Amino acid sequence: MSSLRPIADLDTHEVTNQPPPLEGLNLFTGDRALADAVRRAGGGQHEARLTALGARCGAAEVIDWGVQANRVPPVLDTHDRYGRRIDEVTFHPAYHQLMQLGLEAGLASVAWDGTANGHVAHAAILFLTGQADSGTSCPMTMTYASVPALTVEPGVGASWIEKIRGGRYDPAVRPASDKTGVTLGMAMTEKQGGSDVRANTTRAEATGEDGWYRLTGHKWFCSAPMSDAFLTLAQAPGGLTCFLLPRWLPDGQRNAGFRVIRLKDKMGDRSNASSEVEYSGALAQRLGEEGRGVATIIRMVQHTRLDCVVGSAQQMRGALAQAIWHAQHRTAFQKRLIDQPMMAAVLADLSLESEAATALSLHLAGIFDRDDPVGRLLTPIAKYWVCKRAPGMIYEAMESLGGAGYVETGPMPRLFRQSPLNAIWEGSGNVIALDVLRAVAREPEAVEALRGFMEAARGRDGVYDRWLDSLDFAPSSEGAARLAIERLALAAQAAVLLMHESPVAGAFCRLRLLPRGAAYGAFEAVIDARAILDRALPA
Ligand SMILES: Cc1cc2nc3c(=O)[nH]c(=O)nc-3n(C[C@H](O)[C@H](O)[C@H](O)COP(=O)(O)OP(=O)(O)OC[C@H]3O[C@@H](n4cnc5c(N)ncnc54)[C@H](O)[C@@H]3O)c2cc1C
Repeated sequence: MSSLRPIADLDTHEVTNQPPPLEGLNLFTGDRALADAVRRAGGGQHEARLTALGARCGAAEVIDWGVQANRVPPVLDTHDRYGRRIDEVTFHPAYHQLMQLGLEAGLASVAWDGTANGHVAHAAILFLTGQADSGTSCPMTMTYASVPALTVEPGVGASWIEKIRGGRYDPAVRPASDKTGVTLGMAMTEKQGGSDVRANTTRAEATGEDGWYRLTGHKWFCSAPMSDAFLTLAQAPGGLTCFLLPRWLPDGQRNAGFRVIRLKDKMGDRSNASSEVEYSGALAQRLGEEGRGVATIIRMVQHTRLDCVVGSAQQMRGALAQAIWHAQHRTAFQKRLIDQPMMAAVLADLSLESEAATALSLHLAGIFDRDDPVGRLLTPIAKYWVCKRAPGMIYEAMESLGGAGYVETGPMPRLFRQSPLNAIWEGSGNVIALDVLRAVAREPEAVEALRGFMEAARGRDGVYDRWLDSLDFAPSSEGAARLAIERLALAAQAAVLLMHESPVAGAFCRLRLLPRGAAYGAFEAVIDARAILDRALPA
């Protein structure tokens, strides 16, 4: 941190040609692609709020919270010193500061508290706070996304929704009724299969008390086990059913059948306490009818998928900002790296990837605000593509920093290790592709909505128009699904950039919709790299 006033003039040598730390910039106003995307998605009225948050998230103090929350990962205590069960997770204080920052900025609440274009505001808040730390995005996203599933059973969900809408963070270990704010998690995945949740073996038996059941079984992944409640799936007599499982019961006692077995030792996402849990007669309330578990929880999953897209776009922007910043401040062979033609081509190519992801993710959030039917297909298509692009893009950004990119004292290794996760959870790539095939086969109105969305951008770029003519809007073969969805995703990104009149739209069409090399920077097309970089520079 620059506040440490490091000494560069050492008695053995002088430290030169090192970039200043990327801190103290406004992550909203200094990111033109984001600011434009928010405005185009209908979020113009949120600019003042996002400008303030952008300054906060770019501050050295908040950046350091992200470092600390990952350097000192959470610890699980299953028992207290006397051998009694507590199942509590302890976090570094920076974790709580990040949670407070995000939740009190409205990350989980603004989409549901009556604010106009609330999903766009939500997505932009996630985009900004996520650049400090992606791990804390997980519990905040799940809290946001739980609301549509909670509405299925108002008698159960209303009091939880009210607390979520309040936009407060309260980490106290006590019943939700005694807290000013709550967080919710989701537990579907079991050891024998996560994608195929219908194969869940956890059982639910009615207690006889209205809507209450006892759950027995396990969940192999349960991120955020310190949440106040979880949406979970279990086999009831009527079939797979969704339940709300609270940590504490209405009588003020712990839900004794809920046990956290251990925390996962993960390659990234280390600030986030992902766990394995068991239910030994844990009490839970039914959400929706018995047998309608997938239909109920998918309302949540559709929203977590939006956040996967936003989260990956945010990670790419963070990596790009580091790469451009470094290249702007470092020279090699008597020239700034950013002025070396090959580096400029690589960085411009990365900038296109980042802006296309940013624009698509915010546009998608706007679609959630309008409840536009194009969201049915555009959500899985964007989730499939944007999340899958992140690791490769972030790796290339890392290489732009040379050896410094590979060193743990810098931000790139954490970004890189985080980057595959959004593609894996909430439906891994193939599972998302199967969802697209299912929607195409069963929901012709969704296909027409997608076609209409892409046709709206016709006539603005000849390369795009020819790509559109060649598209298969109704892929049916599993073997060819990935290719078809990739082509639809590229069209969606181009369509959004063209409709937003982004200055990079033409270059995106030429570098993504025409033949080129596989690596970033491997293209012959003539583009104005300088203009693209000027736009992408963190300011
Ligand atoms: C850090 C982390 C946190 C997580 N947190 C949570 C959480 O809080 N709650 C929760 O419920 N889950 C959570 N998960 C679990 C995650 O959602 C699952 O891992 C994911 O859904 C995949 O399930 P699985 O691991 O059982 O893999 P599998 O279902 O076994 O799938 C393995 C691979 O096979 C592919 N595949 C599956 N079916 C097909 C098919 N028909 N055709 C072709 N390919 C197929 C998948 O795409 C995947 O690539 C978390 C995972 C991670 C890594």
